[in-house]
Amino acid sequence: MDYQNRAGSRFGGGGVAGYQETNAARRERLKKLALETIDLSKDPYFMKNHLGTYECRLCLTMHANENSYLTHTQGKAHQTNLARRDAMENRKAQRTAPVVQTGLSQSQVPLRKNIMKIGRPGYKASKIRDPETGQFGLRFQLKYPDIQLNVRPRYRIMSAYEQRVEAPDRKFQYLVVAAEPYESVAFKINAHEIDRSPGRFWTYWDAPTYTIQFFFNVDKLS
Ligand SMILES: [Zn+2]
Repeated sequence: MDYQNRAGSRFGGGGVAGYQETNAARRERLKKLALETIDLSKDPYFMKNHLGTYECRLCLTMHANENSYLTHTQGKAHQTNLARRDAMENRKAQRTAPVVQTGLSQSQVPLRKNIMKIGRPGYKASKIRDPETGQFGLRFQLKYPDIQLNVRPRYRIMSAYEQRVEAPDRKFQYLVVAAEPYESVAFKINAHEIDRSPGRFWTYWDAPTYTIQFFFNVDKLS
């Protein structure tokens, strides 16, 4: 019998080293497999940002290249967040199920939340221009120092006819940003078509700052 190859063996612990090598080899194999089989264009959490680096929209992490992103997707943090997201989607589906049975749409039965609003966030809005395409765009930075734990700001683009605050003017659209317990704020912007191609509409949550950046499909801002 060859005792040298048993784990915990007195003869230099060769078995233990062998186990570690196997783990590393396994990680390497999984990574290779992922690179060959994962289609990043179908990953809803994979995003190329305006800096040319990559982000995981689920974990809000930054990655220098696709490889680093793929390694991240197999890590514990990403897997935990995926499981959490699944559980949340399931709970949401269960909550809305009775509403569907009554024949009412979700928008007719808003979830009432008892939240004391604490005022509007500070913000900065700037005009930007993509040096490569020449497109003009806008960048909004909102500050939410007292945002609720585990709340991420969210945005919506509304047409002039969806909003109820003022008389509709088709020359404008609205960017609405919500983050509890802050009041929602709306920015009135030109109704130019927004560039929705991948990676061009960009949001980034780096608490307490929420950044939204996008470009219009025009080369002039009126
Ligand atoms: Zn992730």
